[in-house]
Amino acid sequence: AKAEGRDGLRFFDPAMQAVVNARAALEADLRQGLALGQFLLYYQPQVDAQGRVTGAEALLRWPHPTRGMVPPVHFIPLAEETGHILPLGRWVLQTACAQLVAWAQDPVLGRLVLAVNVSARQFRDPDFASGVLALLHSSGANPRRLKLELTESMLADNLDDMVEKMAALGAHGIRFALDDFGTGYSSLSYLKRLPLDELKIDQSFVRDVLVDPSDAAIVRTVVGLAHNLGLEVLAEGVETEAQKDFLARCHCHVYQGYLFSRPVPVAAFEAFVLGSAQP
Ligand code: C2E
Ligand code: CA
Ligand code: CA
Ligand code: CA
Repeated sequence: AKAEGRDGLRFFDPAMQAVVNARAALEADLRQGLALGQFLLYYQPQVDAQGRVTGAEALLRWPHPTRGMVPPVHFIPLAEETGHILPLGRWVLQTACAQLVAWAQDPVLGRLVLAVNVSARQFRDPDFASGVLALLHSSGANPRRLKLELTESMLADNLDDMVEKMAALGAHGIRFALDDFGTGYSSLSYLKRLPLDELKIDQSFVRDVLVDPSDAAIVRTVVGLAHNLGLEVLAEGVETEAQKDFLARCHCHVYQGYLFSRPVPVAAFEAFVLGSAQP
């Protein structure tokens, strides 16, 4: 674009204007989607080496009336930039708590741990910890069944603040996983300061684990690191039996991926769990 004039003023650029318009339209739809309750949670099972479902990750879905199913990568970054992630994130947590309360009625579903993604902007909110505790309290959900997924990008903010919030929530039994582990740029020294329960090996390392020796080395190292730190370790994006077998040989014993199930609506998830439950 021949955008800049001599005096620094920007000329009209139709391509740029189209991007701005599309963004504004999506933001308006996002605001309306929140007001109309268009969002849904899908659930993807997390499975152990014996094939038992130990829990699920809740993943946001937006079935828009005219746009179709809008993928999270298209609307979550915008929701973060515009602040809509705060009410949206609250809705996710509220819905997750209600789901835990419903599952608590069943002996099999009641044992599941539900993992919820938390965005950096949401976690940075000074009222985050008190908000989560208030939602747990008002819903009656068991804090021990809730796991929050954080990312390394949050460490850029303030490690002390992060540790403090995690400790406040951890004192009530809430667990923490570090998502997309290995994709950030942070030093490993924070791992000993964060009160974590689990590392999630990013799917980018799992994808080529059988063909790329570097990925295989990274996976082996992360599993060893997790075990040495006393953390659970879960591999994301497991799509084939061969990937699972490799991970099992590395002593990674919890998996999530299309090999077991895609993220699905709650009824299909419950059928999957009850169908695979051992008597
Ligand atoms: P994530 O937290 O890393 O979630 C895992 C993503 O991998 C999900 O994409 C899931 O559908 C996908 N996936 C699972 N198994 C496989 C597999 O075997 N192969 C492949 N290729 N992909 C697999 P999804 O649902 O599109 O979500 C994308 C991202 O959007 C998530 O990445 C997360 O960062 C964000 N997100 C989703 N729901 C929420 C939410 O409720 N709150 C926030 N803040 N972010 C969310
Ligand atoms: Ca996640
Ligand atoms: Ca992830
Ligand atoms: Ca990811």
